[in-house]
Amino acid sequence: MAEGILVFVEQRGGQVRKASLEALSEAHRKVATVGGAVTAFIVGKDVKSIAGSLAKYHPSKILVSDSADFENYSTEGYATALTEAVKKTDAKYVFAANTALSKDLLPRVAARLDAPLVSDVTEFVVDGNNLLPKRPQYSGKTYTVYEFNSPVGLVTLRPNVFAIEESSNNVNCPIEDLAVSAGEVKAKVTATQAASGNKVELSEASVVVAGGRGIKGPENWPVLQSLCDQLGAALGASRAVVDAGWIDHQFQVGQTGKTVSPQLYIACGISGAIQHLAGMNSSKVIVAINNNPDAEIFKHATYGIVGDVLEVVPKLTEELKKMNSNN
Ligand SMILES: Cc1cc2nc3c(=O)[nH]c(=O)nc-3n(C[C@H](O)[C@H](O)[C@H](O)COP(=O)(O)OP(=O)(O)OC[C@H]3O[C@@H](n4cnc5c(N)ncnc54)[C@H](O)[C@@H]3O)c2cc1C
Repeated sequence: MAEGILVFVEQRGGQVRKASLEALSEAHRKVATVGGAVTAFIVGKDVKSIAGSLAKYHPSKILVSDSADFENYSTEGYATALTEAVKKTDAKYVFAANTALSKDLLPRVAARLDAPLVSDVTEFVVDGNNLLPKRPQYSGKTYTVYEFNSPVGLVTLRPNVFAIEESSNNVNCPIEDLAVSAGEVKAKVTATQAASGNKVELSEASVVVAGGRGIKGPENWPVLQSLCDQLGAALGASRAVVDAGWIDHQFQVGQTGKTVSPQLYIACGISGAIQHLAGMNSSKVIVAINNNPDAEIFKHATYGIVGDVLEVVPKLTEELKKMNSNN
C-alpha cells in the first residue's frame, strides 16, 4: 500500500527554489499522519552536488536523477523522471511548489499516473491518516477541500504559506541515484534568455511593493523601485498598468497574473479590484496607499495611508534609508 510523501524539489542553474524547501518542510510536518517517509527528488544536470544541502530539511532519503538529458527543462523529460520517482517510492502524496514549472509539469505526471492533482493548496485538513488539500477558489471567496480516491495524489503548495523548518545541526541523509533517461522529447529547449525583471522572484518574495494606475505613468516606476531597494522587495503591478503597457506582464499580480503571499504587501495606487485581491489577499500584512479614502483596498488592508502615492512613497523610502544606514 502506498505511503509516505515524495517532494519534487525544483532547481534552476543549481539554485534550489525556496518554495520547494517550504514543500519539503510541510512534508516533514505531515508525514507522521500519512505514515512512511519523506523522499526528496531532485532532477537536472550536475545536481548531485546540491542534493546533500537538502538533508537539513528532514527528508529520510534524497533521490537524484543527474543527467545531461536534464540540463534544460523539458515537460516530457522531467515528467518521465518524476513519474519514475513516484513509482519507485510508491508515495501516497507528491508535493511540489506551485510555480510556473510545476504548473506545466504536474498535470502531465498526473495524467501518466492516472492520479488526481490539486494545485495552489494553502492548507491540509487531517482526516485519520489522510491529508485533505484545501485551496482558495473564486478569487479567495470560498475554499474547497478535496479527498483523494486514488493510491497517489499530487499537490502543489502555494509559495510563502508554509514555513521552512531547517535543522541547525549537520544532518546526513542517504542520497540515491535514480537512473532515468528523458526518453523521446518532442519539444526541446535549446536556449533560455532571462528577461530583465525582479532580483527576487515575485511569487516567492517576502516583501512586495506593487503599483497601479495611481502611480500616474511608467516614468514613476523608479519611485517604487527605490522603496523596493530599501526593503529588499520585489516589484509587482496591477493588470491595468500591464494592459496600459507601463510594465511587463511578468510583474502582474492577480487572477490572471501571479499569486503572491508575502509577509508584507504594499499596494500603491491600486483600487483593490476582486481580480487583484485574488492574487495577494493571503499576504500577512497589507499596506495600502491611496488618495481615495473609500477605495476598496482599504477594506482589506492591515494599515492604510490616505494620500498621494508619489508623495508618500518617497517619504517612506527616505525614512527607511535613514534606518538602514543607522544599522
Ligand atoms: C477576467 C479579468 C481578470 C483580471 N485579472 C486581473 C489581475 O490579474 N490583476 C489585476 O490587478 N487586475 C485584474 N483585472 C482588472 C481589475 O478588474 C482592475 O481593473 C484592475 O485591478 C485595476 O487596476 P488599478 O487598481 O491599478 O487601477 P484603478 O482601478 O484605476 O485604480 C487606481 C487607484 O489609484 C488611486 N489613485 C489615483 N491617483 C492616486 C494618487 N496620486 N495617489 C494614490 N492613489 C491614487 C485611485 O483612487 C484608485 O483607487 C482583471 C479583470 C478581469 C475582468
